[in-house]
Amino acid sequence: MAKITRSVSAKKAGVPSVPKKAAKKAAKAAPKPARKSAKSPKPWTPAEIHEAFSRFRKANPEPKGELEHLNPYTLLVAVVLSAQATDAGVNKATRTLFAVADTPQKMLALGEEKLRDYIRTIGLYRNKAKNVIALSQKLIDEFGGEVPRTRAEIESLPGAGRKTANVVLNMAYGEHTMAVDTHVFRVGNRTGLARGNTPLEVERGLEKVIPSEFMRHAHHWLILHGRYTCLARKPRCEVCLINDLCRWPEKTV
Ligand code: SF4
Repeated sequence: MAKITRSVSAKKAGVPSVPKKAAKKAAKAAPKPARKSAKSPKPWTPAEIHEAFSRFRKANPEPKGELEHLNPYTLLVAVVLSAQATDAGVNKATRTLFAVADTPQKMLALGEEKLRDYIRTIGLYRNKAKNVIALSQKLIDEFGGEVPRTRAEIESLPGAGRKTANVVLNMAYGEHTMAVDTHVFRVGNRTGLARGNTPLEVERGLEKVIPSEFMRHAHHWLILHGRYTCLARKPRCEVCLINDLCRWPEKTV
C-alpha cells in the first residue's frame, strides 16, 4: 500500500517561525555537513589479503576455538547450546555435562529432564535441551550414532543451522568452511574484506577472497580478532595487526 504523507505547516506543527534574516545568518554559521564520498574504500588486493592472513598466522599459527569439546558429537552439542550465549557460559555447563554424556547414546540415557538441570544457566535452555535430545535420537536412527560429514545432513539436525554446520565441518573434519558469527560479520564489514548485509553474504565474500592456504584457520583468526581486538564498541586499532590495511574510515590510527 502506498504510504500517505501529509505536509504540515511549521505553524501547525508547533515549530516557532524564524525571521528570514535570522535564518539566513544561522545557516551560514552552521557547520557544513560532511560531504558524502561517492567512492567506497578501495577493495583489498590479493597481496594485501595474503599479507593480513600471514600476520594472523605468524601471531597464532594454530588458533583454537574456545568451545570445549571432546569429540565431534560434543562439539556439535556445544555449538547448538552456544546460540545467543557466550562460549564461557556454555563451557561452564558442558564441563560437567560431557563428563556424563559424551555420546548420543549417553545423552538419551540421561534424558531431557536431567539434561535441563545441567544447562539451566544457558539462555533458552528448555528449547536447547529438547533439540539436543532430538538430534541425539536422529544421529542414532539415521547416522549410526556419528556426526555426519555433509552440510545438508548436519543442517537437518534439530537446532543446527548453517553456522553450526560450518563450525563442525571446519573444527571436527578440517573442511575449509567459514562460519560467520557476530564477530566475523563485524570484522568482514569493517575491514572491507567482505561486506554484506547478511551472514551468508559475508561468508561467501570471505570464501571468495581468502586464499585456500589460510582457510583452515581463517574462521578462528577472524573470530579471535573480533573478540579481542576489533571490539564492537571500542576497537583497539592501536594494537591491531592489520591496522595499516583495514579500510574502515573510522579506525583510530
Ligand atoms: S584497524 Fe581498527 S577497525 Fe580496523 S580491523 Fe583493526 S581494530 Fe578493527
